[in-house]
Amino acid sequence: MKLAIVLGTRPEIIKMSPVIRACEKHGVDFFVLHTGQHYDYALDGKMFDDLELARPKYNLGVGGKPYAQQIGLTLRRMDSVFKAEGVTAIIVQGDTNSVLAGALAGNKLGITVVHHEAGLRSHDLSMPEEVNRILTDHISDVLFVPTKTALQNLKLEGVSGKKISLTGNTVVDAVMQNAKLAKKKSRILSKLKLKPKKYVLVTSHRAENVDSPVKLKGILDGLDAVGKKLKLPVIFPIHPRTKNNLKKFSLKVPSSIKLIAPQGYLDFLQLEASTKLIITDSGGLQEEASILKVPCVTIRENTERPETTKAGMNVLVGTDPKKILKGAELMLKKKIRWSKPFGDGRAGETIVRLMVEKLT
Ligand code: UDP
Repeated sequence: MKLAIVLGTRPEIIKMSPVIRACEKHGVDFFVLHTGQHYDYALDGKMFDDLELARPKYNLGVGGKPYAQQIGLTLRRMDSVFKAEGVTAIIVQGDTNSVLAGALAGNKLGITVVHHEAGLRSHDLSMPEEVNRILTDHISDVLFVPTKTALQNLKLEGVSGKKISLTGNTVVDAVMQNAKLAKKKSRILSKLKLKPKKYVLVTSHRAENVDSPVKLKGILDGLDAVGKKLKLPVIFPIHPRTKNNLKKFSLKVPSSIKLIAPQGYLDFLQLEASTKLIITDSGGLQEEASILKVPCVTIRENTERPETTKAGMNVLVGTDPKKILKGAELMLKKKIRWSKPFGDGRAGETIVRLMVEKLT
């Protein structure tokens, strides 16, 4: 097996890191290909530095182009790399344009396509991520699902059970491998003058939220209400897309909300581990909140991580300010019974073992 590990964005770097580590440990013949979808140092290079990963052998440098150009350019550039390297298998993780382009390139070249974090469904086709997930799952040869719900989703869509393995999600491995290091190395709380459990942590970057001035304003008003009611600062590491749109829509950020730059993985883990509450529209944060036992309020109408809401560790509130405040109060009041829907932290090892078994 000659394996290409394809990644392109911040969450893919984080969630692929346990797979890279396991490939190194087991002497797999692999290389990492970065599409360059995320290129800002804070979202890209800083992740490699914090996770102590070597820089990828290839960076296609596609950047933040519109959909058709991004996918088209990635496909073209990947095609020549895969041919030159004699790749026999590729692994992609998640639901980005890099994932879909990687799966398509592999499929067209007759290369075995492996999808990690397969089977997630929000059942909302207006989300670009949902379309990427469905298309990728249906052209993949090997599907690693994180949960039983994801397995069921694929079976309901007619994907053969022979292609699917339940592995857990490497997000748990990444948190377990780095939480202690974050605690030891990170100075972020003192740098921001924060005390544990005395602030609220927020992220928001989903297109359906931040590309709408009405929804983005609703989120800001909701966060302001939460900050005022709890008398706590709201810490918001701002994604470049959200930052651009705040400016584009001339939205004023209330003084209860402290915008900070996107954080490195270790500082961010430390912020997550010590916060009273997480408010987010991120997929990864809904998972990490459950792993770190932090109550989560999700500012979306649906989620492809229903395991968290069903277990009562997360609540969906949309972008209405009143509902955001109500959700925050509810999550802080209720007694949460924490569970571990995303596995035991050995997904990276399992994935690499299964790839070696199935593909060599
Ligand atoms: N993250 C980070 N720094 C930040 C915000 C998030 O390192 O300032 C990490 C976070 O721990 C999680 C991942 O980025 O592992 C989530 O990425 P994002 O929200 O961009 O993508 P999604 O999970 O929604 O696909």
